[in-house]
Amino acid sequence: MSFVRGLTCRECARSYPAEALHACEWCFGPLEVTYDLGAVGAVTSRERIEAGPRDLWRYADFLPITTQSPPGLGAGFTPLVKADRLAAELGLGELYLKDDTRNPTGSFKDRVVSVALSKAREMGFRVAACASTGNLANSVAAHAARLGMDSVVLIPHDLEIVKVLMTAVFGGRLLRIDGNYDDVNRLCAELAGEYPDWAFVNVNLRPYYAEGSKTLAFEVAEQLDWQLPDHVVVPIASGALLTKIAKGFSQFVETGLVEPHDVRISGAQAEGCSPVATAFASGSDQIRPVKPSTIAKSLAIGNPADGWYALEAVRRSGGAVASVSDDEIVEGICLLARTEGIFAETAGGVTIATLAKLASKGVVRRDERVVAYVTGNGLKTVEALKDRVAIDEPITANTDEVARALDQRIRTEVLV
Ligand SMILES: [Zn+2]
Repeated sequence: MSFVRGLTCRECARSYPAEALHACEWCFGPLEVTYDLGAVGAVTSRERIEAGPRDLWRYADFLPITTQSPPGLGAGFTPLVKADRLAAELGLGELYLKDDTRNPTGSFKDRVVSVALSKAREMGFRVAACASTGNLANSVAAHAARLGMDSVVLIPHDLEIVKVLMTAVFGGRLLRIDGNYDDVNRLCAELAGEYPDWAFVNVNLRPYYAEGSKTLAFEVAEQLDWQLPDHVVVPIASGALLTKIAKGFSQFVETGLVEPHDVRISGAQAEGCSPVATAFASGSDQIRPVKPSTIAKSLAIGNPADGWYALEAVRRSGGAVASVSDDEIVEGICLLARTEGIFAETAGGVTIATLAKLASKGVVRRDERVVAYVTGNGLKTVEALKDRVAIDEPITANTDEVARALDQRIRTEVLV
């Protein structure tokens, strides 16, 4: 059962059938999946969702798939962790972390890929493809293996080694491109024209793919006992994640699953790739493309497809967009790890460091119920910590040496 009405252009509102289309033929605006929310509201209920599978398919009524519980890797329904120690450190009150490091391939991309490739199978595609900054590559290769599809994954040549190996291990084709993500993305847009029988999850299937991110809003609402938070902090790469979280909250209100409540939405970027934060700071409507240079490679999209929509969603909600330096990103990773025991990748460091910055400026407030989205696992980007996290020299196996080492460390800490 699917409640999809079709695709609608976000710019001129022209309608299209629910096919493998992503841009409006009239104005080239992006297409968006629209639903018969009245019909969804008539069948959905908290009880129906709670009785569903413990993965993202518990929200199937809100997703563009006809198949009931399609096969996959079990993406979604990750923990919402109450982060009291981090909150105390940042001077905040009620703070939660949406821990998407726990997804099957270690990032929130498993949500969007699960939806996109389920749709691809329904449409009869046999080949899964994508342009990726790394996490998407991991997830497309893994899901294609699980679903028995071929895969062709294109990435910039200089990604973190774990993300490269973790894509190659699943056995599809991995093409490393001499260029940055924006070059790879442009190439994939051309390839999508030449290989119309390939399902490029973030090109010709992009409208369906992006819908998977709404589940990050649905889960937070359900896990807060069917209430919306006051303020969420979301990393921005293409901007699609942020806009879909906003859409998820409003669809839950529209179908009566939660009471209406204003959610402030703030965005997080790395200074080395911050076109949306720059536009926000200058009060501009123009997102000026940049050449990325940051350790947060999963967020390194210099020309974000949904950047303007993300900016608009932030402004409408009364949130803010801020950016943080590479040093602050590492500090964010370490702060999260030592206060809450969660190891996030560089994108998570961006989110936590931005949360800290916004909290210190009073944008994120102590009286708000806050959710920060931690979107990927730290094991994927360990090289970002190399030479930035102190590791002691080896010592001989004797108790005096241990005592001396501990004493030294304690004295060092006191000195610092
Ligand atoms: Zn249009």
